[in-house]
Amino acid sequence: LYTTSADHNIVTSPLPDVDWPSGNFTSLILNKVTKWGHHTATECSVTGRKYTYSQLVDGASRWAGMLTKMGMKKGDVLAVVMPNCPEYPIVVLGTLMAGVVVSTVSSNYTAGEIHRQLLNCDAKMLIYDPVLETSVDGALALLQRPLLVVTNGPSARSGALNLRHVFEDTNIAFNDPVELSGEELAMMPYSSGTTGPPKGVAISHNAFASNIVMYSVPASLPVKEATATSQGAFMCLLPCYHITGILLISLIGLTKGIKVVTVPKFDPNTFVSTISSHKMSTLHLVPPLLNFLLHSPSVTAESMAHLEHIVIGAAPVSPSAAQRFKDKLKKPIFFQEGFGMTEALLTHMVPVGVDEVGTSGALLPNVKARVVDTVTGKDLKAHEDGEMWLKTPSIMQGYFKNPTATAETIDADGWLHTGDIGHYDERGFFKIVDRTKELIKVKGLQVSPSELEDLLRQCPAVVDVGVVGVPDDRLGEAPRAYVVTSKMVSEEFIHGFLEDKVAPYKKLAGGVHFVKELPKNATGKLLRRELKKMVSEDSA
Ligand code: AMP
Repeated sequence: LYTTSADHNIVTSPLPDVDWPSGNFTSLILNKVTKWGHHTATECSVTGRKYTYSQLVDGASRWAGMLTKMGMKKGDVLAVVMPNCPEYPIVVLGTLMAGVVVSTVSSNYTAGEIHRQLLNCDAKMLIYDPVLETSVDGALALLQRPLLVVTNGPSARSGALNLRHVFEDTNIAFNDPVELSGEELAMMPYSSGTTGPPKGVAISHNAFASNIVMYSVPASLPVKEATATSQGAFMCLLPCYHITGILLISLIGLTKGIKVVTVPKFDPNTFVSTISSHKMSTLHLVPPLLNFLLHSPSVTAESMAHLEHIVIGAAPVSPSAAQRFKDKLKKPIFFQEGFGMTEALLTHMVPVGVDEVGTSGALLPNVKARVVDTVTGKDLKAHEDGEMWLKTPSIMQGYFKNPTATAETIDADGWLHTGDIGHYDERGFFKIVDRTKELIKVKGLQVSPSELEDLLRQCPAVVDVGVVGVPDDRLGEAPRAYVVTSKMVSEEFIHGFLEDKVAPYKKLAGGVHFVKELPKNATGKLLRRELKKMVSEDSA
């Protein structure tokens, strides 16, 4: 499976390379879906508000027409601040049709966090859900510059355009397709990468097109296409502001004629009934959600009667949890782990037909990988742990307006240094065992330790601080702060300081530990490895 050159062990995909069309990647989806016109494309799990495939095509093209009418040009940025909703994929498709770039913002963000992203991504327009009126108002007040504002649904904001009226307006048309080579930017989600605060990840149309084709091979995507009379359903609970929600669930689902059921917020009381009422056979999960299903009394052979296939990733998956789940349902379920990251999109998938949990699987077509010793820089062989480097057509162009961070992540030969530690086996299957990067993953969502540290340093009495992830049954990982203070303060005081500054999932659920000093090197740099050791010592 892998070829050995003079100085590198380069692992290649077991699957043959694929080709994809260049240009605007939305045509890969929009040209295909017209045959499913009468089927539901997207539907809200709570309100039942829905769009058929023909309404999706019309809505996207009317929205593209409206963007042009409002003066939005190729390369301008639209920020989207909405919980998962049936309009989300339609807005994304329409925006991309017009050559406009989408920057997705977490709907859990506070005013300050939204403001930071609007500023950083140079947003010219903002579309938001009125349930987020307060935080968006706060962000706009901080921004102090005009922005075109659109709301998804009725709102009190004077003069704001209602997106849903645009979707229905037969007078709007998109008559002048925007010429794209494919190298133009399509989306800009945010990721902290290996170090520092969240950064805009500049992803081109070609990167998306390649990833859709690479993933859609039968060896990786065992999902049946809709027929004239039947269609499957995907649950889109994982957020659309993240690549998993928008690309791997929504857009991939749409290429198969799937009904994408959008869930605005996790609700333990309706999660299971949504799965059974839509007769879902495939579920997309992160490990904490698998844990929830394992312990939920409503999960039974009856309520999960249609379930056959679970796509899971974002963090290591426990083989014993998967086995207990199969035992609970008394039937085989294909647990398909994958590996991906915002900076490279989806790169690994367990091949269809391989019943094995605890591996992130093989490389998708066209992907190459190396495992490199973090000390010597030498390429490692099968079963030896080192940093995984990747080369893929779906790689980001770089971090937006941040050449330094880009150069620290993608080297001169085009290898992306993932900051993940793992190994491969004789079959070319990878397993991730650790991370050298700072990143903490709470319920599969990114939390940047340095972002929390920067904030906590502004807290009165805090002299120094280091934030690290600690293992947590419910969340996967939880952020914990080790702080040095100039006077006695309580843990509640520190929690109170962060209260309105960060999204709920970024809060210090792993606790606050007061220490005399933090482990640092001679130049004063925080030694994160040592901080992790303090966590193990504390729990021992
Ligand atoms: P994100 O950019 O938010 O998708 O986060 C990407 C990171 O999630 C990777 O660099 C890994 O650290 C982690 N990750 C994703 N998939 C897996 C997996 N299957 N096993 C272990 N870690 C994973």
